[in-house]
Amino acid sequence: VEYLLDCEEMTACGRRAVEWLTEQGAKQAACLVVDDEGRVSPLAAHGMNDGRLAQLVLDLDRRDHPLSNVLARRQPTTLELNGQRGAGLFKAPVVAVPLVGAVGRDSVLTGLLVAAPASPALLADARWLGDMLGHRLSRISHRRLQLEGERRLAREQLLLNAVGDPIILTDTEGRMLIANTQAERLLAAREGESEGRRRAVALNNMLFSSALARAALQHGAATRRELLLVDPEEGSDLLYELMSMVVTDPREGTGIVSVLRNVTDLRRASEQIDENYRKQRLAETEARAERDRLDLIIDSVADPILLTDPSGAIVMMNAPAERFFTAPHQATPESAKRVQANDAHFTSFVSNLFFLDQGTRRHGDLGLVDPQTGAPIPVEAISGKILAEHGEVTGVVTILHDRTEAVEKALLYEELKRASEQLEERVRDATAELVNQNELLRRQRIELEQASALKSQFLANMSHEFRTPLNAILGYTSLLLNGLSGELQAQQKRDLSLVDSNARHLLAIINDILDISRIEAGKMPLRRTRFAMGGLMHEVLAELEPLITRSRLAVRKQLPRQFPLLFADRAKVKQIMLNLLTNALKFTPEGSVTLQARAEPEWVAIAVIDTGIGIAREDQQRIFEDFSQADSSPARQYGGAGLGLAICRRLAEMMGGRISVASTMGRGSTFTLTLPRRAAKR
Ligand code: ADP
Repeated sequence: VEYLLDCEEMTACGRRAVEWLTEQGAKQAACLVVDDEGRVSPLAAHGMNDGRLAQLVLDLDRRDHPLSNVLARRQPTTLELNGQRGAGLFKAPVVAVPLVGAVGRDSVLTGLLVAAPASPALLADARWLGDMLGHRLSRISHRRLQLEGERRLAREQLLLNAVGDPIILTDTEGRMLIANTQAERLLAAREGESEGRRRAVALNNMLFSSALARAALQHGAATRRELLLVDPEEGSDLLYELMSMVVTDPREGTGIVSVLRNVTDLRRASEQIDENYRKQRLAETEARAERDRLDLIIDSVADPILLTDPSGAIVMMNAPAERFFTAPHQATPESAKRVQANDAHFTSFVSNLFFLDQGTRRHGDLGLVDPQTGAPIPVEAISGKILAEHGEVTGVVTILHDRTEAVEKALLYEELKRASEQLEERVRDATAELVNQNELLRRQRIELEQASALKSQFLANMSHEFRTPLNAILGYTSLLLNGLSGELQAQQKRDLSLVDSNARHLLAIINDILDISRIEAGKMPLRRTRFAMGGLMHEVLAELEPLITRSRLAVRKQLPRQFPLLFADRAKVKQIMLNLLTNALKFTPEGSVTLQARAEPEWVAIAVIDTGIGIAREDQQRIFEDFSQADSSPARQYGGAGLGLAICRRLAEMMGGRISVASTMGRGSTFTLTLPRRAAKR
């Protein structure tokens, strides 16, 4: 019995129990056990035919066997099995003791002890044994079930872990019940793991449960959705496809099974495929655009372009090329022949590139004809081989250029060049002629200058010659008038006075001529000094005193205070002032004559202003010329040789100044001498 209590294995237990019963006097004994399916079958027996024993299998649910009833009632009994089913197994009345054990608080039927021949002592022994054995068997069975369950669980876990995808079973509240290692890696953190990992796991849990909460879960049907989690080890994003399904287990209740499938790589791959596809499309579009562009270019080129294959046949040509190489719309036999000729010329040119030339390009001239008219058309051709990747020729592109116009232009250019050469020659001749003329003129000018100098020289000399006798005349006249040669009669005195005044006039003219001649001959030296304007004005007016008195005009002097000193030839300035004042007095019947001086920053102006007869506009320039007077009629009123202003002008110019006039007929004139304040270089 102690052995029985130690027994951990059912069969051994049963055998031991049967043995013990035999020891207690039973001739026959059997131990039956209730299996998982609720059947009761023999575990061990003694004193029985084995073949017959095997038939002793009871079904708990069926009550057609006396032993079944014993089991149902759970009461130890003594009974006869003779004449019943199983008869022949037991030769005498039997004791039957149901074996009852406990699982938790429940009592469960675990088996049956049968022993014969029945006696009250055997019943008591069997009962005692049954009590112990029932518990023992239930414990062993329970233990076995537990072990089996654990083993199954371990197997299931192994299975789950063998699946590469994370699998999670959660209850309806979202609590995780089972997770395979892959799921744990993502969703479970253990003590002592890194902070980063724990945080990632917490985040994943949050993402996972919110995804589950959002999934409209249905019984039997898996819902799918995308779930982005974080790799707790690497921190990188992981994209999963979350498939969840509600499952119901009779024992465990309702739960949710979720399988996560990593689609990160899949997504990456699909993105890559998308990207590649996009790139390919782009490349195709570009290629198409490129081809369109090329077509456009080829069509818009006015020159014929042809593409030839390696055999020399024309593969493609643009519209301008068709003019030469396709028969016209209504082709005549001649035009067809011309097209053929063009074709032959062209083909031989291109094949030369194939067979003769080593280079990839050929440049040359082709003689084509217009298929319509037969007119020869000189054409310049450039062919280029089109090479494939490995250097083999896949075709030849040729561009032709009609040189008719160029040839015409060249002819025209030649003509133009000739004309221009002729013109140049003429210009050269004309220029030479001009040079001759210039030389002639230059000589003439020199001659003229020499003549003018001679003239001036002559005049200077002659004036001198004039003056000497004239001075003699004046001297002797003066002697006579002064009565040095005896008393003169009144008439004689008048006549002599006339001689005197005419001689003086002549002398004045001769002096003027002499002045001009000296200026012209460059023999009038400049003697610049610094002098005061006031003194000069005073001197001039004093010298003209007799004339002023006789004219009975109001003569005024205007000179600003602190007038600057002048740097000029004083005698010449005085001569000009005397001349201008004399003229003003002469040509002013009434009114006034004003002598005025003004100082500008750069200039000094000396003006003689009269209220006289004035000078017509057209005469205003002329009066400065030699021997020129405003009134040149023979019956003119005023005397003079017309040299005064001409001399003044020359003198002013010698000093770097000028003389100008402003005048209105009948109202008066203003003559102005302008002199630079600083001496002009001369
Ligand atoms: P002439 O010795 O003949 O006066 P000028 O050269 O001094 O020679 O003058 C030339 C002419 O200019 C004069 O004949 C005169 O007709 C005219 N003329 C000069 N000054 C005046 C003036 N202040 N008013 C009017 N006419 C003048």
